[in-house]
Amino acid sequence: MYMYKRVLLKLSGEQLQGKFDGGFDAERAKWIASEIRKATAHGTQIVLMVGGGNYARGAQLTGGGVQRVTADNIGMMATMMNAVALADVFNSEGLDARALTNIKADQVADQFTHRRALSHLEKQRVVIVAGGIGRPYLTTDTAAVSLALEMDCDVILKATKVDGVYDSDPNANPAAVRYDTLTLQQAVESPDIKVMDKAAIALAADHDQSIVVFQLLQDNNIANAVAGQPVGTTISAA
Ligand code: UDP
Repeated sequence: MYMYKRVLLKLSGEQLQGKFDGGFDAERAKWIASEIRKATAHGTQIVLMVGGGNYARGAQLTGGGVQRVTADNIGMMATMMNAVALADVFNSEGLDARALTNIKADQVADQFTHRRALSHLEKQRVVIVAGGIGRPYLTTDTAAVSLALEMDCDVILKATKVDGVYDSDPNANPAAVRYDTLTLQQAVESPDIKVMDKAAIALAADHDQSIVVFQLLQDNNIANAVAGQPVGTTISAA
C-alpha cells in the first residue's frame, strides 16, 4: 500500500475548542490523537502546525491602542498554548509527540530548529510546531506551507469543517459544487477560493507543494489522506 513518508497537518485553533466556544477541549484532542495514531501506523511522519484562533487572532485584537505587532505576538502565544496542551494529550494517549516553538519561550517548549524537528520525526514522534513562523503579519496557514517546504513534506493536509473546496460557501448556497481537484494556479487566482489565505497558496504554488483540503471530523480521514486516498479536494501543480 502506498503511503506518504512525511506530511504536514494543519489544524486551526477552532478545531481544538471542540464543544466549547473557545479554549481547548481535551476530549477533541484525544480523538485527534487516535486519528493521527491510525495515520502513523505504517510509519508516516507527521509535522503538525497548529493555529490559535480559539484564543486569539491578531487582526481581531488590533485596535484601541493595541498595535498589530503586539496582537500578532498574542496570536502566536495562543498557538503555543494549543501546542503544549496537544503534546501533553498526545503523550498521555500513547502517541509520542514534542512541541517545538518558533517564538522564544525556553521554559515552555524547546526552540524549533530544523535539525531538532528532523531528529524527533526520525524517532516517529509527532512534531507540533508553535508560534507559526515566529513573525507578525502572517497566519499559521502561511507558516504551515513554509514549514512543509522546510521539512520536505510530501503533502499539506489542511483540516477544515467542510469536506473540501467549493465554488461558493456550501453553508450559504445549497447548490455549491465541490471540486475534487484544483490546480494551485486556480486556487491562487480565484477570488472565490478562500480555504487558505492567498499568501499561503501563492507560496505553495511557487514550489508546486500539493495541498489536500479535507474534513477533520470524519473517522479515518487523516489515515486515508496519508494513504493517498481521495478525502476532499486535492490542490496540486497540474
Ligand atoms: N501569527 C503570526 N505569525 C505567524 C502565525 C500566526 O503573527 O507566523 C498570529 C496571527 O495574529 C494569527 C494568530 O497568530 O491571527 C493565530 O494564528 P491563526 O489565525 O492562523 O490561527 P487559526 O485561524 O489557524 O486558528
